[in-house]
Amino acid sequence: MPASLLPADLQLFQRGWLSSNNLLCLGERPALVDTGHDKHAELTLHLVQTALLGQPPLHTIAHTHLHGDHCGGTAELQAAYPEARTLVAASSWDTVQQWDEQRLTYELTGQHCRRFAANGVLQPGSTVQLGNHVWEIHATAGHDSDAVMLFEPKQRLLLAGDALWQNQVSIVFDTLPRFQRDGFAGFEATLDRIERLKPQVVVPGHGAVFGEVDGSVTAALASARKRLALFREQPDQHARYAAKALIKYQLLDVEHMTHEGFRQWLAGAPVFAELHNWVAGSISREAWLADILDELERKDALWRSETEIGDSPTVSRQRL
Ligand SMILES: [Zn+2]
Repeated sequence: MPASLLPADLQLFQRGWLSSNNLLCLGERPALVDTGHDKHAELTLHLVQTALLGQPPLHTIAHTHLHGDHCGGTAELQAAYPEARTLVAASSWDTVQQWDEQRLTYELTGQHCRRFAANGVLQPGSTVQLGNHVWEIHATAGHDSDAVMLFEPKQRLLLAGDALWQNQVSIVFDTLPRFQRDGFAGFEATLDRIERLKPQVVVPGHGAVFGEVDGSVTAALASARKRLALFREQPDQHARYAAKALIKYQLLDVEHMTHEGFRQWLAGAPVFAELHNWVAGSISREAWLADILDELERKDALWRSETEIGDSPTVSRQRL
């Protein structure tokens, strides 16, 4: 049972593939890591309030990174717990204080998040106390170079955010030229770093907790490396996967929208043009996107009627 992999004072709210998981660290000063998508902000607050009945109020809200599915509940939690401090990765400090939607990537991806401000940072190389435990802060790259992982060395527990999932890798945003970063190599270096930490238990940003007790951490690292090697060899496959994941995310958020609304959303999110650059010589952007939508419909990841396109819950974002 995944839940039993965690000590009793760490309570995981395992969410779906829109909202990220949230980890509540109980103790004298309760802390929550990651707050889900803003669509589910009320539910996130309810989960926290229920778990903290008879306990001290929430003291800290910390984030692995600032994608909208990891910090969308923060504004709601801040309103309910005005005394709580809010921590973001040190490299995101300016971005979040100015709420620079370009650097927060919401503009890039056509996504959104309720604005909030931070009042403290998570500095890679240092530690932070969350609940009863002291966590090391580690930098990551590949998915988001402003993301951090949190590692509790006594129980060898890793809060990986989107740097490691069990059966899938997250989008390698660092491959987009706009970021001028290390792309796949950065992600691979992050996996090497995770391997060196030798985590016994991993809390991923999405999906169930897994542990090395049955070899699942080694297996997850191996499968992520294999997938990244394939993407490195065939970056068009990564571009296609990323486009599918972003479309699925949008449909999970809105549930359904008109074809015209969807067309405008696609046209307004520059990420699709940037991903299409990987295949630009071979196929027009329109034809590439049409083919991707056909595949998603065939796989039952979305549905289309005469007037609308919508999310099909049969196939999760994990299985694209
Ligand atoms: Zn993310």
